[in-house]
Amino acid sequence: MSSKYTQLVTIKILLLTSAGIMSIPLYFYLGGEWPLLVAMLILNRSIGLLSSIGYHRWLTHKSFEPHFVGKILMLFGIVASSIVSPCRYVMSHRAHHKYTDTEQDPHSPRNITFFQMWLGQFNSNIPVVFPKEFLKDPLLSFVDKNYWRLNLLLQLTVLSISVKMYVIFTPLMFSMNWFAVVWLNYFAHVSNGKVGLRNLSSFSALFLMGEELHKNHHDYPARCNFGDSTRFDFGNWFVTHFLAISPTK
Ligand SMILES: [Zn+2]
Ligand SMILES: [Zn+2]
Repeated sequence: MSSKYTQLVTIKILLLTSAGIMSIPLYFYLGGEWPLLVAMLILNRSIGLLSSIGYHRWLTHKSFEPHFVGKILMLFGIVASSIVSPCRYVMSHRAHHKYTDTEQDPHSPRNITFFQMWLGQFNSNIPVVFPKEFLKDPLLSFVDKNYWRLNLLLQLTVLSISVKMYVIFTPLMFSMNWFAVVWLNYFAHVSNGKVGLRNLSSFSALFLMGEELHKNHHDYPARCNFGDSTRFDFGNWFVTHFLAISPTK
C-alpha cells in the first residue's frame, strides 16, 4: 500500500463525497421523483449490506460458506460499493485484527484522527500477507484483478440509463457507506475517551446492520454471528437466510 495509492484514495473520497452532498438537490433539479429516490436508497442499503458481509465475514474471516447465488450477490455488492479491491481489503483487515490498536494497526484511533481515517489516510507501514486463496478461485481472482474496470463499467451503465439515477447511485451510496465504515472503525475503538474496543448502540444497527457489535466480533473473529444473549445481529440473520449454504455459528 503505497503513499501514492493513499493519495488516490483520498482524492476519490473527496470527489465522491462532494458529489454525494450535492446529489439529492441535483437529483430533484434534474426532475427526479420520490419513488425512484426511495428505490435507490433501498438499493444503496442492500449494496452496503452485501459488500460489508462479502468483504468482511466471507472473504476476510471465512466465517461461512456461501452458495453460488450468494457469492454473485456479494461480488456485485463489492464491485458496486466503489470502496476497495477485495484483496486490499482482506490484507488490511487481517492486519487490523492481528495488530489491533498497536503501531502496526492500519486504522486505529491510537495512530490517526477521525478525519484522517475518513480521508483514507491509513497507516501504510504495516506487514501484510497476500491471501493466497484468491488464486484458487478463478471468479474471485478475476473480480479482484479487474475491480476498478468492472466498477467503471457499472457506473457507466447506470449513467447511460439516466444521469439523475447515477447521482443518487455511486456518489450518494459511496459517501453514506464510507462515513458509516469510518464511524464504526473509529468509535468502536474508542471507549470512555480512551482507545479500547466496544459495541456501538442498537440504533447504529440501522446503518451498520450487525457490524456495530464490534467488540463481540474482535472477541470471536471466526464467528459469523456477532450477536449475544442481549444483542441481535441482523447481518448474521441475512447470511443464514440468503447467502450461506448452511446455518452459521
Ligand atoms: Zn476493529
Ligand atoms: Zn473483522
